[in-house]
Amino acid sequence: MTPEFSLIERFFTRPAATPGRALLGIGDDCALIRATAGEALAISTDTLVAGTHFFADADAGKLGHKALAVNLSDLAAMGATPRYVTLALTLPHIDEVWLAAFSRGFFALADVWQVELIGGDTTRGPLSMTLTVLGAVEAGRALRRDGAKAGDEVWVSGTLGGAALALLHLQAKIVLAPRPLAVAEERLHRPLPRTQLGQDLLGIATAAIDISDGLLADLGHICERSRLAASIERAAIPMSPALLGVRADLRDACVLAGGDDYELCFTAPAAQRTRIEALAGTLALSLTRIGVMQAPDGGKALVRVFDEKRHEVTPAAVGYDQFAAMS
Ligand code: ADP
Ligand code: MG
Repeated sequence: MTPEFSLIERFFTRPAATPGRALLGIGDDCALIRATAGEALAISTDTLVAGTHFFADADAGKLGHKALAVNLSDLAAMGATPRYVTLALTLPHIDEVWLAAFSRGFFALADVWQVELIGGDTTRGPLSMTLTVLGAVEAGRALRRDGAKAGDEVWVSGTLGGAALALLHLQAKIVLAPRPLAVAEERLHRPLPRTQLGQDLLGIATAAIDISDGLLADLGHICERSRLAASIERAAIPMSPALLGVRADLRDACVLAGGDDYELCFTAPAAQRTRIEALAGTLALSLTRIGVMQAPDGGKALVRVFDEKRHEVTPAAVGYDQFAAMS
């Protein structure tokens, strides 16, 4: 038995009591999973690299949570039910304290959504982690980016801007008081994938995306794929409570262009409004209508932002570039 395998056994293999759905999990050359008729498998991979996506000295438990959360967020954006995950870890050296904390954070979230770790790879090198998640969705029903129709309304879940605000603080570009800092940091370090919402939007939403790169950029992807444009109202966008009292230009930048919140942005026909409002109640999660999809107007931005007086706010004025270096 190689040292790597005993390490995998110690930190990444669950007790036999954990019910596994895979036909064959960790320990062979491949994992085996059952293919189910009528079901599509949604598959997504994300890499987090130290120094690029997180600080190298970041809390290992939070990292374990976040690495899985950002991957689950992609499944949520398709309306898929999480099933399996693989984990490729690259570590500069074997640090048992770090590994124990990382795997605790990872499995705490995996257990919430009953995601089964079925394999991976462990290598030596600069710290990074690559996860692949697999989720199930009824064939033909997945929430894609290309399904929005002109006239559909644009919605977002939760609040935006908190994660970007925490990053501005960590980069010493602003100084936050302890309370708003705690709220913002929670969003940056422990994002919650909107897994249930995604599944509940099947048959309601026409398109969806998770907000990882900022509202303007990610809604822009729905526009591109659906060959449409969007108009949104700045005042309607739900803002992280940590942003109260922050300078208006920075606040707009965080809300419109800040990434890492992992909320869902989705489109739905106006006729679905009451169902969506009911869903917000059931999930105890705010769902806010922020704008509308429309035919593209050549030469105009794909996502246009309007202020309370119906004046268009230009991307420069909302500090769109302030986060350009983040992604
Ligand atoms: P191989 O040489 O065939 O690639 P490895 O020694 O890399 O096998 O891995 C042995 C087993 O442990 C495989 O089932 C693999 O999927 C699993 N594994 C390796 N690293 C991890 C990890 N970080 N998390 C979960 N499973 C892992
Ligand atoms: Mg290997």
